[in-house]
Amino acid sequence: MSIVEAVKTAGIIGAGGAGFPTHVKLSSKAEWVIANCAECEPLLKVDQQTSRLQAVKLVRGLIIAAEAVGAVKFGIAIKEKHKETISALERAIYGTSAEIYKLQDYYPAGDEFSIVYEVTGRIIPEGGRPTDCGCLVQNVITLIQIAEAVDEEKPVLSRPITISGAVRNPITVVTPIGTPLEFCIESAGGAEVSDFVVIDGGPMMGKFVDLKKASVTKRTSGFLVFPREHRYVQRRMMKPDEHQKIARSACDQCNLCSDYCPRNLLGHRCWPSRVMRSGLTANPKPDDILNAFLCSECGLCSLWACPIPLPVREMMVQTRLALRKHEVKNPFRNQEVEPNKFIANRKVPVHVLMDKIGITDLDSPAPFSGEPLFPGRLRIQLNAHAGSPALPKKSVGNSVARGEVIAEPSEGALGAKYHSPIDGKVLNISDNILEIGVS
Ligand code: SF4
Ligand code: SF4
Repeated sequence: MSIVEAVKTAGIIGAGGAGFPTHVKLSSKAEWVIANCAECEPLLKVDQQTSRLQAVKLVRGLIIAAEAVGAVKFGIAIKEKHKETISALERAIYGTSAEIYKLQDYYPAGDEFSIVYEVTGRIIPEGGRPTDCGCLVQNVITLIQIAEAVDEEKPVLSRPITISGAVRNPITVVTPIGTPLEFCIESAGGAEVSDFVVIDGGPMMGKFVDLKKASVTKRTSGFLVFPREHRYVQRRMMKPDEHQKIARSACDQCNLCSDYCPRNLLGHRCWPSRVMRSGLTANPKPDDILNAFLCSECGLCSLWACPIPLPVREMMVQTRLALRKHEVKNPFRNQEVEPNKFIANRKVPVHVLMDKIGITDLDSPAPFSGEPLFPGRLRIQLNAHAGSPALPKKSVGNSVARGEVIAEPSEGALGAKYHSPIDGKVLNISDNILEIGVS
C-alpha cells in the first residue's frame, strides 16, 4: 500500500488545526517538511510532552511524510525552552537528515505562515498555502499517527490531550476519540468552580463547547476549563451586535492592531484598523473591508494590541462572513510580499500575553498520565474534519469491533474515515454524532 493510501485508510486528519485530511496534503509536492511542535497557545502541554515521549516515532513519521511529498529538507520546529524534548529529539534524529529548528517563545509561533517564515525565510503568499512556497507543515501528533499507519497499519483510535485550566488535577492523557467532555473533566479531578465554560483548543483560537454534547475529536488538542465570570471569558462571549456597537463607538484609529497583526508583519495587506474604520464611515473603501479575508483569527489584535480593548478579531470574522454571504471572493492572492522591517521586534512573548489576558494563574505543567482514559460510552463526531461529514456504515444496535470502520466519506468527497476505538454496540446516531457503548 502507498503512503497516501495507508494514511487515508487510517483516517488521519490534521491533529492541531482545521482537521484537513492528511492524505490530501501528502498527495502534494514540497521541498521542505516542517514538523510543527511550536504549541504556541497558552496552557496546552500536549505536543511538547508527546514529542518527548514518542520522539522516535515522530521522526519516523517525519521521514515518511518527506518521502511522500518528495522533500529534500525536513525537521522539527520547537520552542528552545523545551530543553528535555529537544534532547529526546536530538537523540531520535541521530543518523538521519532531519534537523531541529529552535523557535522563540512567542505567539503565534505555531501559525503555519509564521513557522514557515521563521524556519525557511519564505513567505506563504496572501490567501495561499505552505505548498505555494514549497513547504508542508504537519502537526507532530499527526506525524506520529502517520508512522503508526504506515508501519503498524494502525488507524486513529485515540489521541493525547491536555485537560487544564480551572480543574483540580490538570493532566495530559491519551483518550479514545469520542470521549465525552464530562468524563475528561472528571478525570482531571473535576472543575474547581461550579459555574464554568470549556474551550476545545487554546485560549486564543479555541472554541467554546457545549458542556453536554462535546467530546474528544481527532483534532482536539485539549479542553481548558475557565470560571464563567473570568474577564477573559466575558470578553470572548460577547454577542456580535455588542461587538459592533462597541467597535463603532470607541475605535480611535491608533493603528496598534495593524502594527501587531502577524499577517500584516509578514507583508500581507491585512489591516484590522481599516476594517474597524470601515465601521465608522458611511461609505467605506472596498479595500478597507476586503482585507478581512487575510485574517487568520489569531486574536492578537483583540486580546493583546488594542488598548481599549475592542473586539477587533470578531469584527474581522463578521466582515468576512458578510462578504461571503454576498458571494464576494478574496481578491488578495499570490502577490509577492516583503516582511515589515519591525517583524522581529513585534513578537509577543507568551508569558506577557498570558498576564495581559489574566490566565497566568491557570497555567500548570499538566503532566502526562501513564493511564489512558477508558470511558464506557463514546460520542464520535463524524464532522470534526475539513470537508463533508463521514457517513455512518453502522446502524443503531449493531456490534462494532475495535479498529472497524464505522463511517467514511461518500465517493469522491473530501473527508476522513472513522474507526471504532472499542469493542461495543452502536447506541445512537444523530446530528453527525455516532454513540458507542462498551460491550
Ligand atoms: S485576528 Fe487580528 S491580529 Fe490576528 S490575523 Fe486577524 S486581524 Fe491580524
Ligand atoms: S488598536 Fe483598537 S483603537 Fe487602535 S485602531 Fe485598532 S481597534 Fe482602533
